Formats: sequence, structure tokens, C-alpha cells
Amino acid sequence: METQLRPLDEAQSLIYSRANIRRAFTEFDDTDISGLFRKDDCLVVCRTDGTSQEYPVRPIVDAFKGFTSRLPHFFSYLGPNFRGPSIWRNNCYILFKGWHYQSQGSALLTSAVAQSRWANKFSMLHDEAKVKSTLGAFDLGYLIAPDGKTEVNPKDILGAGLNDTPETPVEPQPYCSCGSFQRQVQLLPQLQQEIPGYQPTCKHMTWFAKYRSHLSQRSELIESCRGNMADNATAWYYAPPEIGQPHGRLSIIFTKHGQNAPLKYWRVYKSQERFDETHAWGLFDAMIEQGFVPFPHTALLSVSNAFKTCSQPSSPQSPVS
Ligand SMILES: [Zn+2]
Repeated sequence: METQLRPLDEAQSLIYSRANIRRAFTEFDDTDISGLFRKDDCLVVCRTDGTSQEYPVRPIVDAFKGFTSRLPHFFSYLGPNFRGPSIWRNNCYILFKGWHYQSQGSALLTSAVAQSRWANKFSMLHDEAKVKSTLGAFDLGYLIAPDGKTEVNPKDILGAGLNDTPETPVEPQPYCSCGSFQRQVQLLPQLQQEIPGYQPTCKHMTWFAKYRSHLSQRSELIESCRGNMADNATAWYYAPPEIGQPHGRLSIIFTKHGQNAPLKYWRVYKSQERFDETHAWGLFDAMIEQGFVPFPHTALLSVSNAFKTCSQPSSPQSPVS
């Protein structure tokens, strides 16, 4: 018996998008398509000229999962002055979009200016809907609860009678207010039919998890230092991309003479190489691995002006590899 071609439902359309098919099969031609269908373990691509091709679904599912949970670069979700996510309430955090690091001068964009204005004020908003509408109105970022919200519905307490049977507590689920995550939540039963055990995720979840792990490894390293002062330290400076350029510039100096050592005891890390935002996670991981505590240059008074005064210093050495 021949298996029937089934049109894609909404969840399948999300998974088997043209972009994801192309990610899985680089030779995929996404023009002249008349329809996409599911059949057994395949995706059938029908063309306007009457021909069709079959693609196995597994690599496309992997591409969907990989793309949905991709890790954006370090500066993607830092607020003004390299600030990380800040806790709001109910186990939720405010995650700013990295407007300040988009390009030279992007700190003057309306959304970036609004971030600076709002950075410390979200704690004054008690209502989640208000927080989300403010984040959305200025395109500031997202409300995210990677460990699930600890929200208590007041009605559950105030409206409950003594004889009411308490409902089984629901396990807190991760949450992100972004469109991608919300769409997956909406389509979850269908997504799980296609990908058993699937749980919603997004690039913000991935970034947050990486950032949290980075902070905790860095704290552990600092705590292991005598008097919580690092002998081995690096200081980094990031200049966002010039207008029209794809990448910015990440500059790093290091010392083995203590985090407060005068500037003359610092050296440029691999001055012959050019680093940008895409290298940041890897470099920071390597620094910590080698016992060098990374600091934003603004955090160390002794070197905070170094990147203006010694942009081309000499005698590079390598503390990390
Ligand atoms: Zn998200």
C-alpha cells in the first residue's frame, strides 16, 4: 500500500522550513517549490515542473534544533556598560538586546538610550504584562525565566477554602517572552508528535545558560585566589563594528602581577591577531581554564585608560592558548 503524502501542519512547517532544509542539505534548491509534504521518514519537495525529491527528515530536525538553540556571541545580550541580565521577580530576569554593541554609535539608537534610562527601573514595575509591554514598546529585550517562574497566583491563596483539595503543584517550566519560544509553546503537542520529548527553547535560553556558567566559573576562580585578588588577570575592551563592517574588535591585555598592577606590567595578548565578538566566548573560556580572571577594562582602574593610550603596544606574550 502506498503511503499518502500529508501536507505539513503548523509545527512541521516550523521544523521543515526552507531555511532548515538548506541548513541540512546545502545543495537544496529552494526555488520553484509547489509544496512540501511528509511521507514516512521523508520530506517530499514537489516542484512547479511536476518533479519531486525526497529528503530524510532526521538531518532537518537536527538543523531545526541546532538553529533554534544556537549560541549568540557574548555581547548579543549585554545591556549598557556590559551589564548582564538582571533579576526582576518570580525567578524572571530582564535580558537586554545588545543594542549598545551593534555598531559604532549604536548607543545613540532610541532602543539603546531607552535601555540606559530603564536599566534600574524594572524593579518598580510589579506587573508582568507591564514589564513585557515596556520591553516590547522600545524593543529593549525579553523577560526570561530559564528555571521556570515561581509565580504564585493570589487567587490560589485568597480564594481557596479549607476543604479545597490542593492541586498538584505544576513543575516550573522555562520561559522566554520571545516570539520563537512562545510559538513553540503554542505548538508543543504537535512538535512533540514530530520530535518525541521536544521542549521549547531559544537562542536567549542558550545564551543565558552560557553566560551563567561563565559567571560561575569566573567567581570560582576569583574565590580560589588569595584574598580574592587575581595575580593572573586579563582586561578586555570591545569596540563594536564600524558602520558597514561585519565585525567589531576585541582587544585583550594580561598580567601575571595582580589585577591592580600598574599598566607597565600588562602586555597585549597576541597583538598580531585580530579578535572580534565571535571569539569572545572561546577566549574567556580559555582564560579561565588557564587561571586568568577576565575583567572588562572598565572594572580595573589601573588599566581603564589603557586601550586609549596603548592601542599598538609591543612585546606580545601568550598567557592562554
Ligand atoms: Zn527567547
